[in-house]
Amino acid sequence: MTINLLSDTVTKPTKGMLDAMFSAEVGDDVFGADPSVNALQKKVADLFGKEAALFFPSGTQANQVAIKLHTQPGEQLICDKWAHVYNYEGGGASFNSGVSCRLLDGQKGMFTAQQVRDSISNRADIHQAITSLVTVENSTNKGGGACWNLNDLQQIKEVCSANELAFHLDGARLFNALVATGQKPKQYGELFDTISICLSKGLGCPVGSLLVGSNEQMEKALRIRKLLGGGMRQVGYLAAAGMYALDNHIDRLEEDHQRAKKIVSVLEKCAFIKKIEPVETNIIIFYVADHIDETEFVQKLAERNILIVGMGQGKLRIVTHHDFTDAMLDVLLSELVKLY
Ligand SMILES: *Cc1c(COP(=O)(O)O)cnc(C)c1O
Repeated sequence: MTINLLSDTVTKPTKGMLDAMFSAEVGDDVFGADPSVNALQKKVADLFGKEAALFFPSGTQANQVAIKLHTQPGEQLICDKWAHVYNYEGGGASFNSGVSCRLLDGQKGMFTAQQVRDSISNRADIHQAITSLVTVENSTNKGGGACWNLNDLQQIKEVCSANELAFHLDGARLFNALVATGQKPKQYGELFDTISICLSKGLGCPVGSLLVGSNEQMEKALRIRKLLGGGMRQVGYLAAAGMYALDNHIDRLEEDHQRAKKIVSVLEKCAFIKKIEPVETNIIIFYVADHIDETEFVQKLAERNILIVGMGQGKLRIVTHHDFTDAMLDVLLSELVKLY
């Protein structure tokens, strides 16, 4: 048995999900004729109280299309220095949209309305790139699954509105944040122009993301998705997995959060652990003591069939997910306490 805690993307479809996929009604989605895709798009748009949604093969593509929607080449977006759109999308913001990123020095991947206000360029000054978009991430990936406070987002929204900036949410793990905070999807629909969500993270689907927004935005997004090679044919088999996940896998995210908290309670007692970041959802970021070699730590666990990520400088990451069971949790905890 391998205990894979590298990411919540490592899950495999359950029997129920596979059954839903096998019995999906499909059609050619490039012609808009896949009933399962259309049903999923409608469900997700309704969930957020938005006019329309569009299915994507990846969260990266959904974010990249959103950036393209909201910007013109030469302009600038504002995001946290740890943002996925800046760090982990292959430089796509500049490649696909020709925009630069103004990085904010936030806390755990989150920043304040004042920081945004201070970073908006002066439109009257021809030396400066025009600021056109603010993106936030919830939960924050590099920030250790931290969740935004709605009030802070509301304040940023006000800055965006006052300065004619679009506001995009990278909600790859938004459902983790919603479950952890009790916030509602429609509250996010009201705040943001566009929102991307991933089905392939905590929700346990093999593939898939969606972007939500207005009818006009999603019509443009459809064209950009095609241009990027994201038009797919009988993709209803994947949409059916997404539909199943939205019906069955949201509330259970709480279990992933609880297991993460149990891991923390054991790590706290290990003398070889220096520091653990506060855990709010399913991501645990911690640091080994100075005399412990991080690579050796990861290796020792791997020898016990437990896989975790070393992030450099003594920083490590564990991500809990659907396929990480209580039995695996027991094994992990007993191995951890006797590791050194
Ligand atoms: C995973 C992730 C994405 C999208 O990643 P894909 O692998 O392209 O689906 C976007 N943003 C964040 C914060 C993520 O964690």
